[in-house]
Amino acid sequence: MDGKIIKGIAGFYYVHTPEEDKIYECKAKGIFRNQNIKPLVGDDVEIDTNDQPESCGTIVKIKPRKNELIRPAVANVDQAMIVFAAAEPNPNLNLLDRFLIMMRKQKLNTIVCFNKMDIAAENEISLLKETYKLCGYEVVITSMLQLDGIQDIVQMLKGKTTVLAGPSGVGKSTFINILQPDANMETGVVSVKIKRGKHTTRHSELIYVDKDTYVMDTPGFSSLYIDEIDKEELKDYFVEFHEYDQECRFIGCSHKNEPGCAVKDALKENKISKIRYENYITLYNELMSQKKY
Ligand code: ZN
Repeated sequence: MDGKIIKGIAGFYYVHTPEEDKIYECKAKGIFRNQNIKPLVGDDVEIDTNDQPESCGTIVKIKPRKNELIRPAVANVDQAMIVFAAAEPNPNLNLLDRFLIMMRKQKLNTIVCFNKMDIAAENEISLLKETYKLCGYEVVITSMLQLDGIQDIVQMLKGKTTVLAGPSGVGKSTFINILQPDANMETGVVSVKIKRGKHTTRHSELIYVDKDTYVMDTPGFSSLYIDEIDKEELKDYFVEFHEYDQECRFIGCSHKNEPGCAVKDALKENKISKIRYENYITLYNELMSQKKY
């Protein structure tokens, strides 16, 4: 029987079979261990359920992977979607940029979703939207609470496996509940007093939404460390610089202190977002001070 691994916990793999819309608890055949193959969430597999207790099986075959992400560890992903709140909490755009860099490094397209449009100021929303559209991202503005913009996202997710990420308290769990009420997720109740969401998702888990449509919910994060990138390489991840950097006086200009920098000129003329440029400098300095191991 064909299925997809949706969760892995302590040597057990939970395999969803779309045909029956059922979940089997499976062990992997010993042969994978001998071949040093570790089944991953997202793997398309064949399972054998003969001579097994009800709802149990053995993974007998792992189909070739389309791709494999390191963080989060998942196979066969088509795209990522990151959710931030447009307000309460205010979006940490440095964190967002870190995430976008990591996904681009793993060659994954990312949709940027700003939630809580019902409580955010209109000019804030347009600024966020313009900033990230200019960087070549698809941007959606939603209110999960008032079910605004949900249909747009559903269309974007259709027929794909999407990694869903975001900090806690931005409405990500509410969104999963809308997509798949059976997922039975405990929605992060945001404390009015501290206005901080609590963690709800503990493991990365694929949620079956519809035929060929899966969403991978990942644990909320509050920091992301960029590594395995050279500081010289960082500017490649800021695509909005590319239009100008050919005009920089120095080849390999870091757009920091060099004279005749076309990127800094574009910044002065507001053609490049100040927020993005500042995040670039912060990350550049961080990479510069990193020890090489
Ligand atoms: Zn430059």
